[in-house]
Amino acid sequence: MVAEPDGDLQGRLQERLQAIRAELPAHTRLLAVSKGQSAAAIRQAVALGQRSFGESRLQEAQAKQRELADLEPLDWHFIGRLQANKVRPVLRAFGTIHVIDSLALAQRVQRIAADEGLAPRVLFQVKFRPDAAKGGFSVAELQQLWPQLRELAPALPVGLMTITPLGLGPADSAAVFAECRALADALSLPECSMGMSGDWRMAGAAGSSWVRIGSALFGQRV
Ligand SMILES: *Cc1c(COP(=O)(O)O)cnc(C)c1O
Repeated sequence: MVAEPDGDLQGRLQERLQAIRAELPAHTRLLAVSKGQSAAAIRQAVALGQRSFGESRLQEAQAKQRELADLEPLDWHFIGRLQANKVRPVLRAFGTIHVIDSLALAQRVQRIAADEGLAPRVLFQVKFRPDAAKGGFSVAELQQLWPQLRELAPALPVGLMTITPLGLGPADSAAVFAECRALADALSLPECSMGMSGDWRMAGAAGSSWVRIGSALFGQRV
């Protein structure tokens, strides 16, 4: 495969960014999912005005953050599975955590945030359909634990995050997005992180605050 010249990548990134921005509803922001993409690609997106980036793996993100340390601070979101023993370094490297999926993890984030003098924005991952492949609270669990989950200061609960199960059809995905928005509203949480490359338009229409777009923005991951 021939490496594509830098200018081409920049041009295509610009086209895709503009196309996505043109279609995003006013309440929806773009989280550029840069996992599997180079620091150079992130730098190009920053040059085009993008500031919020999502990463799934701590070490990969730390390496890119070091490479990009000359830039104005960026808005980093952690969207991967969060292991208990990684909470401290993840809180140091990311301002927003989308993947709180148990009370124990929530309380650990709270304790370490206090210890570190940080106020991370946190979202609770919810499964609106059974999905053995993914973490997340069931709706019933989240509601039952809510009195504890809502009080995580200095961490700041801001929203819910969901990933639709693989292979869910469009009508069912739309239903999941609507349920996520309704539950967030019922809990007075402003943000819903929902929608990826294949279904972000639908998620935006359903009231997504953050669409998490990787491949439809940067191209295939390496
Ligand atoms: C990788 C990933 C995305 C982006 O996926 P694309 O299909 O490339 O847009 C979004 N959300 C999460 C949680 C991810 O892990």
